[in-house]
Amino acid sequence: MSVTVYAPPTPHFVGDGFRVHNFIPGMIPEGMARMDPFLMLDYNSRHYFPPAATPRGVGVHPHKGFETVTIAYKGRVAHHDSAGNSGVIGEGDVQWMTAGAGILHKEYHEEAFSRQGGDFQMVQLWVNLPARHKQTPPGYQDVRKADMVRVPLPANAGTVEIIAGSYEGQTGPAHTFSPVHLMNACLHAGGTASFTFPAHYHTALLVIEGQVKVNGDALVPADHFAVLAPGTGSFSLTADAESTVLVLSGEPLREPIAAYGPFVMNTREEIVQAFAEYERGAFGYLAE
Ligand code: MN
Repeated sequence: MSVTVYAPPTPHFVGDGFRVHNFIPGMIPEGMARMDPFLMLDYNSRHYFPPAATPRGVGVHPHKGFETVTIAYKGRVAHHDSAGNSGVIGEGDVQWMTAGAGILHKEYHEEAFSRQGGDFQMVQLWVNLPARHKQTPPGYQDVRKADMVRVPLPANAGTVEIIAGSYEGQTGPAHTFSPVHLMNACLHAGGTASFTFPAHYHTALLVIEGQVKVNGDALVPADHFAVLAPGTGSFSLTADAESTVLVLSGEPLREPIAAYGPFVMNTREEIVQAFAEYERGAFGYLAE
C-alpha cells in the first residue's frame, strides 16, 4: 500500500478553545521523525462553540526552535506575541509564526466570534527549523487567503491554493527556512489533482471537507489523515464529492530532535537552556 490512512483519534482540548485530534506525532508509530520537518499536526475538526463572553483559547506560553502554522477553515482566531506582532485570521487565512530564538504568545478565539459562537475548524502544524536557523529572530507572517496563489486544475477539476512552496511552477507567499510545500486542493466532485514532490520528501494529506481517493484507490474520508509511503514522489487525488484537502510535503532535515513541551531543539542541553532562558524572561513580556 502506498498510503496509510488514519481515522481521527479521540479529541482533547488545548486550553479551552481548541478541540483537537493529534495526528502527528500521536497517531504515527515512528513519532516525530516520520514526518520530519513536520513535528506536530493538531486538527480541530469542525466543532460548534456556543457564545462566550470571555474568549476561549490558550493563555501566554513560550515556544522556541520551530514555527507554528495555524490554518483557519471555520471561525476566527486572534494571536498576540512578545515580539509585538498580533493579528486575527478568518476563514481561509493562515498565520505563520516563527518562534526561532524564543517567543511568548497567546492564541484565542477572536472576540466577536466568541460572543456570537459558531463553527470552528482549524489546523495547527509545527514545522521544525534547521539547526542553523533555530536562533533566528522571531517572526510573523500573516498569509491572507487573497494572497495565496491559485492554480486552476485541468478539466475544471478545481483549484490548488498554494500557502508555501510550489505547485505546477507557481510559488505561494509564505517564507520557509527549509523546503516545505503546503497547499489546499479544492476539488469539485469527480475532479482529479496530480502532485509530484521529490521522492525523499515526507508527504501527507488531511481531508478537511468531502472525501477523496489517493491514486484512485485508497479512500480518505473527511477528517482523516493519510501518510504517503516513503519514496512516493507522485500521487493523485480524486474527489468523490466537493472536497478540500490540505497537502503537506517537506524535505526531511534529518537532524536530532529534542522536543520537550513547547520547545524543539537538537539536544537535551539546548532544552535545559531554553527553559533557563524562559525562566529568566529572555523571551520578552506579554500581558495575559
Ligand atoms: Mn502556541
